[in-house]
Amino acid sequence: MGSVVLSLDAELGWGFHDLESPPTARVDHARNGWKRLIDCFEEFDVPATWAVVGHLFLDDCDGTHASHPAGESWFAAERGRWRSRPELRFGDGLIERVNESDVDHEIGCHSFSHVLFGDRRTDRALALAELEASVDAAGEKGVALSSFVFPRNVVGHRDTLAESDFSCYRGAAPARRFDELPGGRPLRKLAEATIDAPPLVSPYRDEFGLVNVPASLYLFGFEGAARSVAESARGDPVVAAAKRGIDAAARREGVFHLWLHPNNLVASRDTRRMRAVLAYLARKRDAGGVSIETMCEVAERVGITP
Ligand SMILES: [Zn+2]
Ligand SMILES: [Zn+2]
Repeated sequence: MGSVVLSLDAELGWGFHDLESPPTARVDHARNGWKRLIDCFEEFDVPATWAVVGHLFLDDCDGTHASHPAGESWFAAERGRWRSRPELRFGDGLIERVNESDVDHEIGCHSFSHVLFGDRRTDRALALAELEASVDAAGEKGVALSSFVFPRNVVGHRDTLAESDFSCYRGAAPARRFDELPGGRPLRKLAEATIDAPPLVSPYRDEFGLVNVPASLYLFGFEGAARSVAESARGDPVVAAAKRGIDAAARREGVFHLWLHPNNLVASRDTRRMRAVLAYLARKRDAGGVSIETMCEVAERVGITP
């Protein structure tokens, strides 16, 4: 029997602060989506790893971050268009809600200000500073960080994670056989969501002693018009794909690792998708068919297995 892991890129505005035109609906629904997700997990008693942007642990800041090596321009949105939108820049009670939930969630890290670790402009000192600032800000709130999710999944500077006492990270999903499909991205997404079972992954310890818990399926990677067409034809294809992955984890060894952003929960159909996946997962778990783990629980398990 395998297990299922859910990880969340919890970032409010920070996932988009460097973009010229951030997706307005996702930004505006960021806090609501976060709360809705807490409720969904409570309803089905499912724990998740909440990889939180470190800046959200702060209560306040002037938006300069003068000693941060990314430079003041990196924080321009804080001083500009989001100056009067503190709800996008600070957690303001949301992290506490996760901590105080009846479900035993893990709080992990999604960098301090969404710096892309694998970007060629990000040097080692910047990566290290992002981790240090996160560890400090979380520590102030009594939270110890162990799991890391790379902003936009761009893996880089893993040595700095080991140096900062992290135990694991979410690595890239294995390549799918549809990657070479002609017809471009929408067709590939459709094929992945409707035809194939998303992959089970095998977490392993890397050369830095960190456990890589690769992703299996992004629950909101298949959106827009293609989603509407597929849904109207035969129900939500992503729910069907998630069920196939959960079934696979029940049959075999391995991890089925689902991920999403709280700000993906924009419309009621998004919550419907989430509840359908969690309901199916909880049923399987309650019947003894599959276990549910957080990322750091996987790291502990893999770490002690030689
Ligand atoms: Zn700030
Ligand atoms: Zn992110």
